[in-house]
Amino acid sequence: MPITFPTIKRRDFLTGTLAAGLFAVISPKGIFAEETKEPTDHWVFLSDTHVPGNPNQVNHDSNPNKNFVAVREAVLKLTDKPKGIIVTGDFAHLEGKPEDYQQLALQVAPYTEADIPVHVALGNHDRLNPFFNAFTQIKKENSPVLNKHVLVLETPNCNLFLLDSLFEEEGVSGYFGRPQRSWLAKELDARKDKPAILFAHHNLEDLVDEKWFWKVVQPRKQVKAYIYGHTHVYQQSIRDDIHLINLPALGWEFQKGGQPLGWSDVFLSKNGIRLTLHTIKEHPKNNDVRQFTWLR
Ligand SMILES: [Zn+2]
Repeated sequence: MPITFPTIKRRDFLTGTLAAGLFAVISPKGIFAEETKEPTDHWVFLSDTHVPGNPNQVNHDSNPNKNFVAVREAVLKLTDKPKGIIVTGDFAHLEGKPEDYQQLALQVAPYTEADIPVHVALGNHDRLNPFFNAFTQIKKENSPVLNKHVLVLETPNCNLFLLDSLFEEEGVSGYFGRPQRSWLAKELDARKDKPAILFAHHNLEDLVDEKWFWKVVQPRKQVKAYIYGHTHVYQQSIRDDIHLINLPALGWEFQKGGQPLGWSDVFLSKNGIRLTLHTIKEHPKNNDVRQFTWLR
């Protein structure tokens, strides 16, 4: 379930009134802004941070707190300040404990001080109430979908939809539920003018209501990509001309020696997305660029 740490007035952000001052400075490398002269729409995407309360805790030979700090230090040094951080779930360690979120609150504070909002779609290792107890500025009752936290971010080039696939009763699988799917359909129909990018924690196959979700998404041609985590695998595919983009984990690898751990430096365009991977440790995929252009 997406959670947001707003550092600017939500109303200003959503209506794009800050755009003119913030988006005109740097032309990113690659095909997008240079060809189109579009304003830059710069973001950082993370997934599966798995931060424990204990900053020294190591899992699978990896210290998630250290990884989080390493990314934050790199992001805060970027000359073109990102518009925000989006985390596609498994924000907390393993059981969504209060101490995990207290630690995460400390970890997020420097972003807040730098006016970089952090938006989080909680995953199957997260728990809603301990989270809200640690981040009291987020109000559960403000969500337009009951017991789900969802969010639309209107950016200069795209509309971003953060969805809630947390299904606490079940454990590992994800579930949007009918009220959220109806909400998504309505919000997409109200925004046909720009590409829509959807974010959630789970891969499609691990959603209990995958079929019903796709019935909402597939016919709405403004949907160009679905971005997710959960698998701890750096990969992508296409379904019905919609890009399925799996973000790498940051916390740890499930199996040693294969998958990169890191963060994605992202530029959104009216015509596509470009993600540059930065790995925590040396890895053949470090600096790998994934570029997705719209197919429909
Ligand atoms: Zn995970």
